[in-house]
Amino acid sequence: KARGRGRWEVFTPPMAETVEEKRRIEQDLRRALDTGGELRLEYQPIFATDGRTVAGAEALVRWEHPERGRLAPDVFIGVAEERGLIERLGEWVLEEACRMLARTTIPWVAVNVSPVELRSRRFVDRVIEQLRQLGIDPARLQLEITEGVLLDTSEATEAGLTRLRTAGIRLALDDFGTGYSSLNYLRRYNVDKLKIDRSFVGQLGQSSDAEVIVRTIIDLARSLNMKVTAEGVATEQQRDYLVARGCHELQGYLLSQPLPLEAFLEFTGIAA
Ligand code: C2E
Ligand code: CA
Ligand code: CA
Ligand code: CA
Repeated sequence: KARGRGRWEVFTPPMAETVEEKRRIEQDLRRALDTGGELRLEYQPIFATDGRTVAGAEALVRWEHPERGRLAPDVFIGVAEERGLIERLGEWVLEEACRMLARTTIPWVAVNVSPVELRSRRFVDRVIEQLRQLGIDPARLQLEITEGVLLDTSEATEAGLTRLRTAGIRLALDDFGTGYSSLNYLRRYNVDKLKIDRSFVGQLGQSSDAEVIVRTIIDLARSLNMKVTAEGVATEQQRDYLVARGCHELQGYLLSQPLPLEAFLEFTGIAA
């Protein structure tokens, strides 16, 4: 995995696996959540297919650990889910993203939501309340959920999704193609957007299977009147293929890495 310096992956230790390591992350994350000072959000611009217009951004959480440096979310999100910290982390992310929406003219921001959070009534209430308090148009918030969420037929999840949709919040299906979505669920919850997983995008030009999958997802989204975004667009060849096939939005290192807020505003020219 050859990646440039300064990217998060460079600092990524292997997934937290041992009990010891998980306990350590849990403890440190509790402290980080108490103080709030070590966490921040970065924003990765998502472009319309003209490659110039910024459609919106995905918010990605970062943790600046005092001793270990930057920890990638893949390392601590799983631990937060397992150890009951994901709701607090999710609330922090949501508040931060809503403040960003309130103070800038960005069309929308997408926030990743863990399946655990969606089952929580408190979480759903807070999302809706937060938007109302800050006077933000709910259509400016997109929640990125994974396919597994739609397969969770528990009443709590169903009720949560329905309430979020009724409030006007947008739903995007993340990592699409890697799970087991039933097409039925896409309709049932009125999903607004599919995000093609970067594992397929990364193989464009190398694997004809990947091309077929990407093309099929784009056609599916368009036929169901959904938006479709390609993640992990890293080469011009990939971009050209996606644009030619009618993909609506592009996200990836070719266009921009995730950026701290000030750098994001400067790069995109979005007014604060
Ligand atoms: P994701 O939702 O699929 O987010 C996209 C990931 O792809 C991000 O990694 C982003 O930095 C990376 N990426 C963007 N463009 C490219 C590219 O061109 N090539 C490659 N190889 N990667 C690219 P990141 O920031 O390390 O986040 C990893 C995962 O952690 C996310 O995957 C998401 O599942 C989770 N995550 C991040 N922030 C949050 C959060 O606030 N809450 C929750 N629940 N999960 C989060
Ligand atoms: Ca995502
Ligand atoms: Ca994704
Ligand atoms: Ca992911």
